[in-house]
Amino acid sequence: MSTPTVHINRPATIAIRRIMPCPTEGVRRRFAAFDALWYGAAWTCLGCGDSWGDGERLERPFKPRWRQEAKARARHLWDEGVRCGSAEHQAWLYEQMAPHRPVEDIELPDTPTTRTET
Ligand SMILES: [Zn+2]
Repeated sequence: MSTPTVHINRPATIAIRRIMPCPTEGVRRRFAAFDALWYGAAWTCLGCGDSWGDGERLERPFKPRWRQEAKARARHLWDEGVRCGSAEHQAWLYEQMAPHRPVEDIELPDTPTTRTET
């Protein structure tokens, strides 16, 4: 029996932040998100914990204290994030889109064989 192989494909992300009106609360609030090329950002309000992606509110988790947990995660993102649209954010986006970005061949730990592209 063969061992199942798990592939995890995750785009590079950057933490970003901005201030904008919160649709839930109706006031300007701090928002934080991860930005990923081609996927866009899902913004979380630091005031109420609600999140939005593609112009719609994301589903609220069905569990107690989800707002406190969402706000804590958003606060952490805010602290480490760069301002949305800032020079640092733009530089990161351009770097992600660079067509001539070199492909790096990395050695994985405890990998008995490596497959090479031909
Ligand atoms: Zn809010």
